[in-house]
Amino acid sequence: MLNSVYFITFGCKVNLTETEKMRLALLSKGFAISESEEKADIFVINSCTVTDTADKKLKKTISRLRKAYPEAKIAVMGCYTELKSLENVDIMVGTADRDTLPDKLSKLSPVKESNEDYKIYPDNTRAFLKIQDGCSCNCSYCIIPKARGGFCSKPLEVIGAEAKAFAEAGFREIVLTGINIGFYGVERGQTLFDAVLTVSENAPNARLRLGSLEPERMTDSEIEKLGGIKNLCPHFHLSLQSACDRTLKAMNRRYTISEYMTVASKLREKFSNTAITTDIIVGFPGETGEDFAESMEKIKKIGFSDIHIFPYSRREGTRADLMDNQIPENIKHERAKKLSEVVEDMKKDFAETMRGRSLKVLFENEKTPGVHVGFTENYLPFTVENNDLKSWRNQIKEVRYIP
Ligand code: SF4
Repeated sequence: MLNSVYFITFGCKVNLTETEKMRLALLSKGFAISESEEKADIFVINSCTVTDTADKKLKKTISRLRKAYPEAKIAVMGCYTELKSLENVDIMVGTADRDTLPDKLSKLSPVKESNEDYKIYPDNTRAFLKIQDGCSCNCSYCIIPKARGGFCSKPLEVIGAEAKAFAEAGFREIVLTGINIGFYGVERGQTLFDAVLTVSENAPNARLRLGSLEPERMTDSEIEKLGGIKNLCPHFHLSLQSACDRTLKAMNRRYTISEYMTVASKLREKFSNTAITTDIIVGFPGETGEDFAESMEKIKKIGFSDIHIFPYSRREGTRADLMDNQIPENIKHERAKKLSEVVEDMKKDFAETMRGRSLKVLFENEKTPGVHVGFTENYLPFTVENNDLKSWRNQIKEVRYIP
């Protein structure tokens, strides 16, 4: 029987990249990846420490797993382990020594014979390629610069080699990720465009998607150049956090709402069928009812195809945690609810604008035989039912979009 690993990932898209790499590393060491907790011998938790809520979730998960699966081993990797220690786990690895995890796990539980009960991790349509790490910005609510250090961009040769390897492995979509990919190459006079071009040249048959992006380095010329990369998906997760200038200032964000709107319009001009998604924190310290109303109004004006909403959560060690104008929890949750109603409408409106258009879908799965599901380039989920019982998995097909 193979020792079977079940992954749990907390936090942002960046962590998905780390998880993806660890999956591949463990597979190459002979481990199997379990798709259910019940069949796992080992749990690998990729932790996040952006907020106190994330810390609590992590601890709760560990104690739940300990109780439910007393025989299983638990390993924790990721941001949390950089800052704090944990009880009740077998292995902890920080970001610098995470490559040691496969060896540590092998020593802990030697790999045994194969067992068909355990499925090999099957997702071979989308790969995550991390192009940079760290952040030197100083948003007042964020612990990441302390946890991960400053900007550190992966050299283009390495990015090219990794993109090629993903392409050869058959991935049809590559997501470029990092802590702050908009600042790619800032240490050596390069920009995100250089990284995207490198991936595009090395994986011409894969479509490319950008992970979460800060707006401030999205200049006209950068957008113009990105617009020339044919396999880049017109989907931009352009981090906003608040659409009120007073709140943006308190967050120590580095743009005004009007600058953000200019970037959003330029992206829409340059790409067809552009989808813009974002993150919004509600109830940031000092955010008044008026600030929130202003933020809602601008959010509607920009029009997003989706928004991830985060009620502000205090993070020890950040400046925002020391602010004395914290917002009560009930108000944060009221604001999150109000915004989520607006988001539901915006999602429908965006999907409606795509009705009848010809869009390309990368099919990832079948719900049932003959029911194929995937995502469009602008990240709309799409399901089609027909008589083709053969798998469409990992194929890109042009469809007439119906929401
Ligand atoms: S840009 Fe701000 S929120 Fe993003 S990682 Fe850097 S400091 Fe944190």
